[in-house]
Amino acid sequence: MFLVWKKLRLSKFTFTGNMSLTLTENQTFNQDGKFISALKIPHSTNTSGWGSLLLPVIIIRNGDGPTVLFTGGNHGDEYEGPIALRKLGNELKAEDIQGQVIIVPFLNFPAILKGTRLSPVDGLNMNRSFPGDPDGSMTQKIADFVYRELVSRSDVVFDFHSGGNSMIFEPCTVLHKLEDSEQMKKTVLAAKSFGAPLSLVLQELDNKGMLDTAVENAGKIFISTELGGGGFVSPRTLTIAENGIRNLLRHLEILPPDELLVPQTRFMQTPDFGGYLMAPQEGLYETLIELGESVTKGQVIGRIHSLTQIEDPAVEVRAQIDGVLVTRAGRAQVKIWDTIAVIATDLDVSDFETNSTD
Ligand SMILES: [Zn+2]
Repeated sequence: MFLVWKKLRLSKFTFTGNMSLTLTENQTFNQDGKFISALKIPHSTNTSGWGSLLLPVIIIRNGDGPTVLFTGGNHGDEYEGPIALRKLGNELKAEDIQGQVIIVPFLNFPAILKGTRLSPVDGLNMNRSFPGDPDGSMTQKIADFVYRELVSRSDVVFDFHSGGNSMIFEPCTVLHKLEDSEQMKKTVLAAKSFGAPLSLVLQELDNKGMLDTAVENAGKIFISTELGGGGFVSPRTLTIAENGIRNLLRHLEILPPDELLVPQTRFMQTPDFGGYLMAPQEGLYETLIELGESVTKGQVIGRIHSLTQIEDPAVEVRAQIDGVLVTRAGRAQVKIWDTIAVIATDLDVSDFETNSTD
């Protein structure tokens, strides 16, 4: 990786504040070719007084066509995106595509380097920091650059997540209910094209500052994923990520069509907050249900064993609605109010699947 940086020259493009994008000579976002570059952000530390953070940005363009932005590592303990996008950036050639692919494999790079959900530099959650602030802290600066310089050029934004250290998901794409029916239709079709086992229309508990919200409010197509979790990757989740990227690129006609059959996705939703189960007390969580299993309202799906009241019986956790377990705690040790299970129900999206669009 360092060899790559040595080849780079500082850009002629200077963004707001003291950031700059390092680009190869004469390269712009409008030039055909493949450019491995980096956003350079001044970062003074105890060991590097005048140092900088170099955030990798890969720009691949060939002629006119749609632009898609892929981001991974929004949270630093979620790894399918960083691995799949790093591989995509290495493998994809400009002549393979029609349009533009922008890849930021390690969005919250300091968090990725540390293996933490939040940035170790300023303690911020990248996905609560959009649209960002050019004069803010490291995380806010990155968010501002991504929103202002990359999202603004993109038709579709695809942001990879998984459950991180604290949760595990049945692999899914994630979307939200949108008021604009045309935007919703394009989003549903994009999620369908990716071909994850589930597509979850999620009721966010806290959507302020999310990249999702910022892109959706700009009227663009936004999809994210929850591909697994627990701080590791599996062959299954990485395969879903890598195949899904190419399926989506074919759907957008950035890659040529292929005969390959896209796996069917099951659309589901978290219909209300009854689908989210929080730990009623701290202790060790014993999960009784595998991800993807159906549950019925009132069914005991887990138990919490107190570590201090050892004579007390375990506290039962019951499903509040009929549905399918799509998320569970990624760690046995839970604190009170941790999200320990999410139950989703089937969703009919047939209204949005007719009349194919781009
Ligand atoms: Zn995440």
